[in-house]
Amino acid sequence: MTTELFVQLCYLSASILFILGLRGLGDAQTARRGILLAEIGMALAIIGTLLRHEIITYQWILVGSVIGAAIGTWISLSIPMTMMPERIAFSHAFGGLAVSLVGISEYWHAQQEGLTLNTLQITATGFEVVLGALTFTGSLMAFGKLQGFTPGRPMTFPGQNAFNFGLIAATLGLVGYLIAFPHAVFVFYAACALALVIGVSLVLPIGGADMPVVICLLNSYAGLAASATGFALKNNVLIICGALDGGSGFILGMMMSKAMNRSFANVLFGAFGATPEGPQKQLTSTGPAPNEATVEDAADVLRAARSLIVVPGYGMAVSQAQHAVRDLAAVLKLNGCEVKYAIHPVAGRMPGHMNVLLAEANVPYDQLFDLEQINDEFSATDVALVVGANDVVNPAARTDQSSPIFGMPILNADAARTCIVLKRSLNPGFAGIENGLFVKPNTMMVLGDAKKTISAFTHTLKETA
Ligand code: NDP
Repeated sequence: MTTELFVQLCYLSASILFILGLRGLGDAQTARRGILLAEIGMALAIIGTLLRHEIITYQWILVGSVIGAAIGTWISLSIPMTMMPERIAFSHAFGGLAVSLVGISEYWHAQQEGLTLNTLQITATGFEVVLGALTFTGSLMAFGKLQGFTPGRPMTFPGQNAFNFGLIAATLGLVGYLIAFPHAVFVFYAACALALVIGVSLVLPIGGADMPVVICLLNSYAGLAASATGFALKNNVLIICGALDGGSGFILGMMMSKAMNRSFANVLFGAFGATPEGPQKQLTSTGPAPNEATVEDAADVLRAARSLIVVPGYGMAVSQAQHAVRDLAAVLKLNGCEVKYAIHPVAGRMPGHMNVLLAEANVPYDQLFDLEQINDEFSATDVALVVGANDVVNPAARTDQSSPIFGMPILNADAARTCIVLKRSLNPGFAGIENGLFVKPNTMMVLGDAKKTISAFTHTLKETA
């Protein structure tokens, strides 16, 4: 078999494995296998690329691989799950930069050697460099907002959307000119520079809390840029996996927007999702007081419960309470209580956040239910145990037309006979709004870190068993 044939076989196998991997990721039970298939696919793609006859020396490739693998391993081992959006934004930034640099080097070589790129090549190179550059700066901005390096609130100025559209139109105009005149070197670099500015200016008006949706969109741009690179380099695996990346990032962003009851356009241009600055807003002192309860009071209710639905939220991730939740569920089951878990599609800070945490704690998949599957069951349930969730159980989404979350589907925790809410304070969640659930007569608020509170429940129940 010739080397070229072997390379193409590696690429074909890698593409099939990427598709099977993505399919596997669609379900919690097959997700691990999906990741493994995608990993094998990536290994085959790398092996195929390393065998290409265009490679002159392996020296620098080896140095880059060792450094990259070391950084990747360190990041994977040290970054906590709650910082996953930041991590993804950071790696996309470098993905965008790499794609852009490949395009610049291809163009530079062609100019040095006096070659004229054909229409397909220059179109692909132009889009590759522009999408890569805006993914680079946009992802860095998203990372900065999530990390608090830049203000998380939307930064707006009059005429901002018009300004952004103007920038995009100017860049597209430059790429169009380049397609007509491939040797216009200045135009090529001007398009790159404008794309860098677009990345910053598109992300500026978006609040830090909406960044996960933006990151999905940037993921999609990075995928399209990689696909364009594939056309420029005549590399099939790049075309296919770039298209998969671009498509899946876009679909995920749409799904997240839908679950937040927002349109994509509203996320991108609506200047919503501000991270509240300064001391966070508490419940107004004039309204009804929340019904605060002690661990012992809540444990009494849990002891008597015959059915319980756990509603996990972002606070469970912060407090890393998933193992404590599983231990409590085990004690309750021994006591004759049926335990289920209700998973809201945007609970936490990334899609599947709660599923991943509960899987880590070995909670059986068949106890996890999506919103549509379980919402009607709350009214026939003794206790809804809300573990660090807030917006996803806020009844204002059903009743208050003026609320920013009005229309968002929520879990009906308030319909359970008793709702026990675990959080540290009366501060609002992501959307920065009050939650009427806290003052309902059938709600018991047990304030404190969720993990500590749940461990105290388990301890109390065991002691009095
Ligand atoms: P929220 O952000 O609404 O609320 C989380 C709550 O957890 C806070 O009110 C906080 O209260 C509490 N909390 C934090 N730390 C702890 C702790 N150690 N122990 C106990 N409680 C704690 O989370 P939800 O999961 O309900 O909702 C997710 C929100 O994020 C939605 O508005 C969604 O639209 C948004 N979002 C989700 C994305 C996704 O993909 N999942 C992406 C983008 C946005 P306190 O400080 O008082 O403890």
